[in-house]
Amino acid sequence: MHFQSNATTSAYSPLVGENGDRLMALRQQMEFLNTIGKQFVAAKDRFQVHHALLATLQELYHFSACSILLEGDPIELTFNFSIIPCYPLSQHFIEDMIARIARAAEVMDFTGITAEELTMLAYFDAPDDLTQEGAGAVNEMAEVRDFLSIPLTVENRIIGMLSLVDEHDQAFDTELLHITTMIADYAAVALDNVRLREREMALWREAVLERQRLELIISSMAEGLLITNEYGAVTSLNNSAQRMFLQTGLKLISGAPMPLRALATLHEAAWLNELAEIIEQALTGKLVMNREVTAAAGEETIPLTFSVSAAPLYDTNFLQTRLLGVVTVLNDITSHKQIDNLKDEFLSIVSHELRTPLTAIKGYSQHLIRRIERRLRQSKQPLTAQKEQGEQREAELPEVYDLRSLNIVQSQTDHLERLVNDLLDVSRIQRGELQLQYSTFHLADVLAECVRQAQVSAEQHTISLDIEARESRITADRLRVSQVIGNMLDNAIKFSPQGKQVNVKLEEREDEFQVSISDQGMGVNPEYFDHIFERFYRVRNAASQHYAGIGMGLYLAKVIVDTHGGRIWLTSHQGVGSTFYFTLPRVPRANGIGR
Ligand code: ADP
Repeated sequence: MHFQSNATTSAYSPLVGENGDRLMALRQQMEFLNTIGKQFVAAKDRFQVHHALLATLQELYHFSACSILLEGDPIELTFNFSIIPCYPLSQHFIEDMIARIARAAEVMDFTGITAEELTMLAYFDAPDDLTQEGAGAVNEMAEVRDFLSIPLTVENRIIGMLSLVDEHDQAFDTELLHITTMIADYAAVALDNVRLREREMALWREAVLERQRLELIISSMAEGLLITNEYGAVTSLNNSAQRMFLQTGLKLISGAPMPLRALATLHEAAWLNELAEIIEQALTGKLVMNREVTAAAGEETIPLTFSVSAAPLYDTNFLQTRLLGVVTVLNDITSHKQIDNLKDEFLSIVSHELRTPLTAIKGYSQHLIRRIERRLRQSKQPLTAQKEQGEQREAELPEVYDLRSLNIVQSQTDHLERLVNDLLDVSRIQRGELQLQYSTFHLADVLAECVRQAQVSAEQHTISLDIEARESRITADRLRVSQVIGNMLDNAIKFSPQGKQVNVKLEEREDEFQVSISDQGMGVNPEYFDHIFERFYRVRNAASQHYAGIGMGLYLAKVIVDTHGGRIWLTSHQGVGSTFYFTLPRVPRANGIGR
């Protein structure tokens, strides 16, 4: 059976021109297109477009179903495939329909999608009355007898394909092809618009979610976060930052127009000035890391202390980079400071307490050594006649054994004393009480003396001294300088058990001297170069764990050299050896006490 479109009830009648009234036909055509155009424009989503399309096509033809195959996500290269049945259809009818659509898509060069893939994608967008009971029985005998496929194009690009199927022959009047293509074009534009809108909505939703997530993270951060504009005025700050400001007696709110510098003057808050200075530095494009700022001196022994880092904030687009302001992170490190203070106090007390018994042990052992030596000398004299026999007897004397034991006590006490002195120095430095006693001397003499002393206990090593300076007069703290050289020599010997050679070199520069101490030991990995000058830092690896030490020597050396206004550094290759360098100005160039 062939269904003709119903000319009397249809909004569009192709037969109007029969009496030659083409103008009338054209007007009717335009009115028709205008009506459906409005329907498409009003559609808010894909399904509304489908229904407008179905209604329009039903004005022209009688058909069993139509389908829309549409490009989906351009990145994931997916497709949307909807089948809109006009009445209940059998399974094999639908399978046949899908097979034809797949073939048509291939012919149209739209996509090489297979019928199986299409089946997986198929979404049945059946009108409501079809999903309800009493929608009619499925005609199992019905077969696809006519098929029409039209590309959906937007700006000459195929974005999809509209297909119509019917169970009757010649269902699709070729005379209506032109107007059907126009309808398809409308539908294509409407579908493309809906798709763009959906993508925009998804992006917008994502952006809103992202923003909410970010706000949540920022507001629950333990660190204080402060954002300032290009004039240094606070545009926003999180809860933690507000709390920190409140602790210092300041109530700061987001969007306060006054620059921090002006606020500091207004509240006479020195620490705000420091903060403003950090922010101003970041405004010049610099990154400021972990700057310590003490907020309020008050009555507290340990005042509120922040570690402040600031980074410039840029707005980057394709054309230019514009400085928007600064992001500042405040970390409350007061409790760390309190712990550090306790540690320093403990260190100071313990080292002082250790010194008293140590002095007594040292004094008494020295006294005992001298007494035994005297006794041995006396007992030697009457024995000179029977020399050989006498020497044998002397070796067996209990005093000789005692003397050996006491010498060990003495050298271990010396070692302990050096450790305690170093600890005392560290606590002095922490309190800012390391004083240098300047005098003028020859650096070459001090180096020679240190090398001589180190050589006494380093039987396995040969320490060479290379003086390349013509003269080495310097004004510095002689004892402290020999402490630096002694520490470095101790390390060179300690960390090069296999390397026999240690070289000490003195060179002169314009206004300073450079001392270098090279060994052929285990070396230091470059990642530890900065750390080994930190307080109590020791490299922990399999090679170094067997060597005694507490990581104070290089820290003290650095503080002493810094305080003299010199520099200290090293070069090293693991397994080959290290060279430690330091410079000292000929005359003091004070840097203040380093910490
Ligand atoms: P200590 O020697 O008591 O460990 P130092 O402050 O003198 O403390 O040295 C810190 C760390 O630096 C050492 O533990 C060691 O890992 C490394 N180090 C120092 N000197 C040398 C060296 N000459 N060769 C290899 N490693 C060294």
